[in-house]
Amino acid sequence: MAAAAPPPRALVIGGSLGGLFAASLLLRAGWDVEVFEQSATPLAGRGAGIITHPDLFAALERIGIATAEGIGVDIEGRVAFGRDGAVLGTLPVRQCLTTWGRLHELLLAAFPAERYHLGHACHRIERDTGGVTAHFANGASACGDLLVGADGIRSAVRAQLAPETAPRYAGYIAWRGLADENALTPQTHRDLFPKFAFSLAPREHMLGYPVAGFGHSTRAGERAFNFVWYRPAHAQRELPGLCTDIHGRRHDMAIPPPLIRPEVITAMRAAAREQLSPQFAEVVERTKQPFFQAIFDLESARLDFGRIALLGDAAFVARPHVGMGVSKAAGDALALAALLRESGNDVASALPRYSAQRLRFGRAVVAHARELGAYLEACAAGGTAATERHTPEAVMRDIAVTRAF
Ligand SMILES: Cc1cc2nc3c(=O)[nH]c(=O)nc-3n(C[C@H](O)[C@H](O)[C@H](O)COP(=O)(O)OP(=O)(O)OC[C@H]3O[C@@H](n4cnc5c(N)ncnc54)[C@H](O)[C@@H]3O)c2cc1C
Repeated sequence: MAAAAPPPRALVIGGSLGGLFAASLLLRAGWDVEVFEQSATPLAGRGAGIITHPDLFAALERIGIATAEGIGVDIEGRVAFGRDGAVLGTLPVRQCLTTWGRLHELLLAAFPAERYHLGHACHRIERDTGGVTAHFANGASACGDLLVGADGIRSAVRAQLAPETAPRYAGYIAWRGLADENALTPQTHRDLFPKFAFSLAPREHMLGYPVAGFGHSTRAGERAFNFVWYRPAHAQRELPGLCTDIHGRRHDMAIPPPLIRPEVITAMRAAAREQLSPQFAEVVERTKQPFFQAIFDLESARLDFGRIALLGDAAFVARPHVGMGVSKAAGDALALAALLRESGNDVASALPRYSAQRLRFGRAVVAHARELGAYLEACAAGGTAATERHTPEAVMRDIAVTRAF
């Protein structure tokens, strides 16, 4: 009797959420999968809050991760506060809010450790008719039938295949952070827990919601409050200063949180006291390690390159107003696995279909997120923006809600 053919082999570049969704779904579909992550140390312990949407739960369930409990904090509704702390409006919207760390922990536990390789920065890819080879900065290389580029917004895989595709800075940043629930005053705690809250300032806005706290606990008293505060930062006049660290070293668009200069954080806290509702100013004050991320748009023109597929943030990055980064990565991974299955693992026919399907979705998400952030972008550029998106009613109705694309 002839020996059974070996399973097809997939190389996944990037071991964050997008890479782990793809890797686990392909493994469960019978692929021989290896994940290569550039970071030499485990990614766990980083990140903050994540909005959930149905694709995220669908991917977790397909992988076999129970979602009935323990994924996040359930909230019943939204509230907007004025500068004086008064309630400007409420809206009933049920949502489950989780954290990057919780999802990463669950996905990592569901994937065989011996197939997950830290310290492997992919720097070159070779393609031939028989397969694809990834070369890593540590001198190692790996061959496969399929390579999934899940290596994020600065994707090295995409840089080699589509160097013309680059992130575009939107002109504003998001300050982020997590304040322990039990560090808040009783009044602020009563106002914020467990709600999705907003505070509008002229030309800026802030939102926040409860998430699991230390040890991923979602028990009352052990949760955290996650905030995201959008502020203009001019690309030449302000961003370089923000990205200059405590040692005077200049970082490119992002800076490891512990290296942010104390005077930058002091100024940000002072602005919070001046501009935000007292509830949010207190959250900012009591967040031990605030950090910021620059806001970008990224749109790929194609996602299939022979035996290579781009996925997650390597493919498209939508501004966080839609809260879709992780769910989109999950949806990409679900689509890739389903189309490969339908084609009998014929990579050549599945990838163009994957690209067509997810390009449509990615473009629609990026366009909607850009529209939601247009007034922030216009304000950041010094102009005056239409303000119909900048009302308590509009932000509660539109920001980070589940909708069809
Ligand atoms: C540590 C971390 C924390 C995050 N926290 C949050 C959060 O709190 N809230 C939120 O909304 N989003 C967060 N994100 C982003 C979020 O994960 C993504 O928007 C979304 O899940 C899509 O993920 P992705 O896997 O496609 O890209 P990413 O999450 O950006 O992951 C890309 C991965 O590829 C690795 N990589 C990059 N280049 C190479 C290379 N050349 N070779 C090998 N590996 C490479 C990176 O180290 C990274 O682990 C975080 C990402 C990371 C990495």
